[in-house]
Amino acid sequence: MTFRSHMDAALDEARAAATRGEVPVGAVLVAPSGQVIARAGNRTRALNDPTAHAEVLAIRAACAAVGADRLPDHDLYVTLEPCPMCAAAIGFARIRRLYYGAADPKSGGVAQGARVFSHPQCHHAPEIYDGIGAEASAALLRDFFAARR
Ligand SMILES: [Zn+2]
Repeated sequence: MTFRSHMDAALDEARAAATRGEVPVGAVLVAPSGQVIARAGNRTRALNDPTAHAEVLAIRAACAAVGADRLPDHDLYVTLEPCPMCAAAIGFARIRRLYYGAADPKSGGVAQGARVFSHPQCHHAPEIYDGIGAEASAALLRDFFAARR
């Protein structure tokens, strides 16, 4: 099977989040078959839920779809470097590969900050591919926060 990036779909979710007034971050979960089984954007404001990050919502929806609390051999695409909470959830879900876009110096927990997957307490680390669609992702965030100032 040839590699096909699903980052464009994640960026669509990020754009949709921005139009709802949410921080523009989007995530897509892909099954071993290559089929997209969940996609989500941030909904912390709509749900009054500080844990309603795109990654968490996509993982919840995917787990509900497959009827399991783990997603081995599944891949997650997210437009921004996951925060420590989402990185921990990705580890708990046993995600196979994590593809993310822009780095997040303020809240990221993968390549900086808590570095969840490098921590000795980490039981499962996905393969990580960063920088995919990073420009588009960073531009969305920049425009979003510039418009609120
Ligand atoms: Zn998060």
